[in-house]
Amino acid sequence: MPVLKGKELRVVGFLCNWCSYGGADTAGVGRFSQPTDLRIIRVPCSGRVDPMFVVKALLGGADGVLVSGCHPRDCHYSQGNFYARRRLETLKTFLPALGIDPDRFQYTWVSASEGQRWKNVVSTFVEKVHQLGHAPRIEEAAPYLPLAAGGDSPRAPLRPLAYPAAGTLAASLEQLREKIRAALPELDCVIGWQQGFDALHATPLFMRKPEDVDKLTWGPLNVHNLATYLPQFKNRKVGVVVKGCDSRSVIELLQEKLVEPDNVRVFGMACEGVVDMARVQKTLDAGNADGAMCADVAPAAVAAEGDGLTVEGEAPARLKLADVVAEKCRTCDTPVPLLGDVVEGNASAPAGPAPDAPPSLEVLDAMTPEQRRGFWRAQMDRCLRCYACRNACPMCVCRDHCIAESRDPHWTTQEGNVREKLQFQVIHALHLAGRCTECGECQRACPVNIPVLSLKQWMNRSVRTLFDYRAGVDVNAVPPLLAFAVEEKNIKEHGL
Ligand code: SF4
Ligand code: SF4
Ligand code: SF4
Repeated sequence: MPVLKGKELRVVGFLCNWCSYGGADTAGVGRFSQPTDLRIIRVPCSGRVDPMFVVKALLGGADGVLVSGCHPRDCHYSQGNFYARRRLETLKTFLPALGIDPDRFQYTWVSASEGQRWKNVVSTFVEKVHQLGHAPRIEEAAPYLPLAAGGDSPRAPLRPLAYPAAGTLAASLEQLREKIRAALPELDCVIGWQQGFDALHATPLFMRKPEDVDKLTWGPLNVHNLATYLPQFKNRKVGVVVKGCDSRSVIELLQEKLVEPDNVRVFGMACEGVVDMARVQKTLDAGNADGAMCADVAPAAVAAEGDGLTVEGEAPARLKLADVVAEKCRTCDTPVPLLGDVVEGNASAPAGPAPDAPPSLEVLDAMTPEQRRGFWRAQMDRCLRCYACRNACPMCVCRDHCIAESRDPHWTTQEGNVREKLQFQVIHALHLAGRCTECGECQRACPVNIPVLSLKQWMNRSVRTLFDYRAGVDVNAVPPLLAFAVEEKNIKEHGL
């Protein structure tokens, strides 16, 4: 007999084989009456519960998910539940970003002898889910887009954002070129930037011969994070030119041993910010009297000096850097690379500490859960599932075996519906938890401007709050989800 009256809800329970499954069995043998809503899935250990199991269940129509393992210090595998605790708590703080009520998910500990405790845990949780009712489906959310997306409104930059006089910039660039030429004989290649298909766009440059180095450019058009290429040069000696933010990706790659320190040379340049190309295009188009798309009118040259960009050619223009700078540069606190065999140039000092919430996160924060569901529904409707966001990410290193495309196990289908597309984004955010340096490449690479960075920023804020950790600043640190503490300072038991 169900303890709770009325219609059953769909509640999924992941129970570890050694303790909680035994506890549920003990409750059954003891004939304790329990709600019948729970569908139990037995797993070897709570540490086996990938947070994606929970998200997949919740996005797939479960009204609640319960994970239960052995009590801390009782794990059959010694430490599985300690790792699980960090992952599952991180997930709990992330669910609201998707508009999912975090009370629909709970994790707890029940031992094999605790039949009565199991009955209480399952009754309390199922009752809470009944109070919340059926979970709203993301596919059914009313599409919602806030009027002003983060960064569209003008905001005062926190950094001075002024490039030095052209002569100083050229001198720093020449010094950098000299250092690269000197190092080239020992390296297979050095990766930098060169002018792209027009003067407004830079493109990656792979320097193998001294004459290639002449093509190296420096300035606010060098938007790409070239650290993305490093893992592909495994076991080869390679150099890379980095801005401050890119240096954090190199640190993260070294930290995770995805590149070997002896195989990498880092050539750093202090940075005054890079442009957001979509804003440049918008500003140029707005200033174009006949309404022609500036993309059709290739600029002859673009120069960065002081607080602006001078565009020369058929449609000359002077753009204020503050109007077109990438959002991340307004609040950047690492304009000078944090590591480098060579670091050239100077950058203005950050005006103050970086704000707690980046602007795009403020937009998400301001929404109700219902609006967030509508927001992601509207954004994911536009997603092409092209994976450019993943491919541009320096920390997405298993892209050849990405679970988004795996058939075994079959995590997501290739269907182009909102749920599958959001699931893919959640996979990216979860896999980057404690590893994402907020370089913004995922969002920059998106051809339809989906603000996927805000999911990672939400996750990073969770990681900062829970583990007081920031990725990409310390080569010797261990990412927090690859570690645990027996007593977690900032994780409270949820009291089921
Ligand atoms: S975030 Fe900082 S280092 Fe990176 S491009 Fe912007 S100003 Fe430069
Ligand atoms: S998830 Fe996005 S912001 Fe984070 S490291 Fe990858 S590309 Fe950069
Ligand atoms: S780059 Fe944009 S469109 Fe492509 S998969 Fe990522 S979010 Fe979707």
